[in-house]
Amino acid sequence: QSQELSQARVDYHAALLALQEQGTRMICSGKMHTDRICRFDYLCYCTEAEEFVFFHSNASVMLPNLGPRRFQPALLDLSSVEDHNTQYFNFMELPAAALKFMPKPVFVPDVTLILNRFNPDNLMHIFHDDILPIFYTMSQYSDFDNEVRLVFMEGWGEGPHFDLYRLLSSKQPLLKEQLRNFGKLLCFTKSYVGLSKMTTWYQYGFVQPQGAKANILVSGNEIRQFAAFIMGKLNITREESPENNEYLVVFSRSINRLILNEAELILALAQEFQMKAITVSLEEHSLAEIIRVISRASVLVSMHGAQLITSLFLPRGAAVVELFPYAVNPDHYTPYKTLASLPGMDLQYVAWKNTIEENSVAFPDRPWEQGGIAHLEVEEQERILKSTEVPRHLCCRNPEWLFRIYQDTKVDIPSLLEVMRQTLKSKPNPKKVRPTSAVHPGRVREPKCQTSVQATNEAKMTVSWQIPWNLKYLKVRDVKYEVWIQEQGENTYMPYILPHQNYTFSENIKPFTTYLVWVRCIFNKNLLGPFADVLILVT
Ligand code: UDP
Repeated sequence: QSQELSQARVDYHAALLALQEQGTRMICSGKMHTDRICRFDYLCYCTEAEEFVFFHSNASVMLPNLGPRRFQPALLDLSSVEDHNTQYFNFMELPAAALKFMPKPVFVPDVTLILNRFNPDNLMHIFHDDILPIFYTMSQYSDFDNEVRLVFMEGWGEGPHFDLYRLLSSKQPLLKEQLRNFGKLLCFTKSYVGLSKMTTWYQYGFVQPQGAKANILVSGNEIRQFAAFIMGKLNITREESPENNEYLVVFSRSINRLILNEAELILALAQEFQMKAITVSLEEHSLAEIIRVISRASVLVSMHGAQLITSLFLPRGAAVVELFPYAVNPDHYTPYKTLASLPGMDLQYVAWKNTIEENSVAFPDRPWEQGGIAHLEVEEQERILKSTEVPRHLCCRNPEWLFRIYQDTKVDIPSLLEVMRQTLKSKPNPKKVRPTSAVHPGRVREPKCQTSVQATNEAKMTVSWQIPWNLKYLKVRDVKYEVWIQEQGENTYMPYILPHQNYTFSENIKPFTTYLVWVRCIFNKNLLGPFADVLILVT
């Protein structure tokens, strides 16, 4: 029985003794509640009170020991969404002596990862907020292996894609509501609480309008390794398909936000790219089938929507074409553009929006969560109907946004083909793309400087250096050097890009003046190295 926590594996008396004598021990990483993950021995959970419990004894450890700051606002974020006030984690405290008066603890022997899923009804949220962060949180700690027990505390049911969560571990993930089946007091022998936010690239607009995160820390490499892991679990191989077997995929939605002329669109796209065209939808295909098809596709075309998260399974060199309904500005909703544009993701991206109102079908009478606006004041309804663009807004219930995003669209084919021709630099071709190198130059070595005064108003400065140490092991197409020259005390500097390892500057160099000179190496135009130690010289 997967629901049983095999108590046979726990030496119950030893565990109880350890809990009573040692109490709970917690050591966390991270300075702030937003970047904290905590590791616990003997963290307990009271299913009646729905509270985690920290038992104090002489041997307890609580690091960080924040005192009441633990509640300002919380110890940590339980989901990967930053500082969301419905996703906070904390625990109550009790002396270990209180155990005598409490229900007998049931021990969870597995190494457990405790977290909140953010929105397990939505495929984009499932991948971006949950599965990717869980995958890399597990990679971070050596305690985790394929036997990890995942515990989801957000309180939702399994959701439509629970099988995806099952891929992360051989053990059945537990939902909050199931915990009470095990007993009144559950004690996790060894657990981690919280999720790494390192792999997320999008913020949903709780504090400022939605958009790419300010400081993205993930690259295409990590996304692809995650994709390979998921595909491996689904027995999908990215085997070389024979030549001339290229195809494009139209990912359609069948319930709402429809493409009204899908057949016509598919014909036009097949014609344009000279490729076979395949349609998939979550209503007609399993996610595993869809991932298999997308993992070998050259182009993925879809309305804006959660299904586009599957572009993380596209091969390098493929193109993502995202369609937006009337009055929705593509620049304001960029989760899939940001994904496609991650460094090393090597996907091309095109956004198209419907600018022809007559090609749009709206649903003012639907319930508000499907974009209905009938519940609004008449003037507000009229304003929305007249507006040609949804103004920037915060998450999540802006009626004008919902109204517009749930429109159906007849895609104007000439204008779509036009933006695709303009934007796609080359014909999307997964077979021809090589991964771009991400190796950065080291510091230039032995930077030197010589000066000479030519006349009272004329001076020269010769700067030279040696190549970075790692360059001799690399084949780099384009090696350049950047030199910054700053007159001491000024707050501007003169930058130069140079092809060789030395240069004599004479323009703008004044005699009897102190200069600061920085030198760094640049590979392939945008891979910047560090500056060498500053040179200080007097002409
Ligand atoms: N969905 C779907 N077909 C549809 C409409 C929605 O499969 O016709 C899925 C969608 O992929 C997502 C979930 O239902 O996983 C919720 O869709 P919603 O429109 O709320 O979110 P969005 O796609 O805008 O992120």
